Amino acid sequence: MTTSSAPASAPTEPVRTLRELERAVRSCTSCDLHQDRGTPVVGQGTEAARVMLVGSVPRRHEDLQGKPFAGATGNVLDNLLGEVGLTPEECYRTTVVKCRPRDDEPAPMASVEACSTHLDAQIRLIEPEIIVSLGTFTTSVLLRRQVSVERVAGYRLDIRNGITLIPTYHPVDVVRGVPQAAAAMRRDLAAARAVLDGRLSTGAQAVAELRARMSSS
Ligand code: SF4
Repeated sequence: MTTSSAPASAPTEPVRTLRELERAVRSCTSCDLHQDRGTPVVGQGTEAARVMLVGSVPRRHEDLQGKPFAGATGNVLDNLLGEVGLTPEECYRTTVVKCRPRDDEPAPMASVEACSTHLDAQIRLIEPEIIVSLGTFTTSVLLRRQVSVERVAGYRLDIRNGITLIPTYHPVDVVRGVPQAAAAMRRDLAAARAVLDGRLSTGAQAVAELRARMSSS
């Protein structure tokens, strides 16, 4: 039997710009989802964004258009952002997983893990003040534990170097008629606006206030 040694692969350089990230995602074959995707969905917005809006996975409209939150969910999100005064320049939109799962099935955990490289790079490059996690799936991924959005929507949490995480519903919940979804999203996006404006405490400040209350009671 003969043996051969594979050449050592070159170390992967971390991406330095969103443009480099876009190229990396478009050529990514790190999980099986690349086999059926139309257009991978990288993100929409600039490195100057103060808020990241993170959804779950691309669906049909997103896969066709190559942008997050297309179609009816995009209209819902646009309208709510406009209502609370969050401008497109202030927001960067993306998804946890960048390629559409076949038949719109849930994304496999292997894909979530493989694609976390890209989401981590986006967070590192943009350094947002706030991440709004849209829906149970995204919130569970970002908190690294299973949670239900019904229970955590509206909290201001402290994650990753002082970034405030605000969980809320996904715009698809509004499209599907989940009764409390629109009001909760409006409330939570307005909270993001208020944190940016200094009218509401950040996640770190909210945690410190809670600890102070608990130690004095
Ligand atoms: S889902 Fe993410 S990790 Fe998988 S192929 Fe697409 S970009 Fe790569």
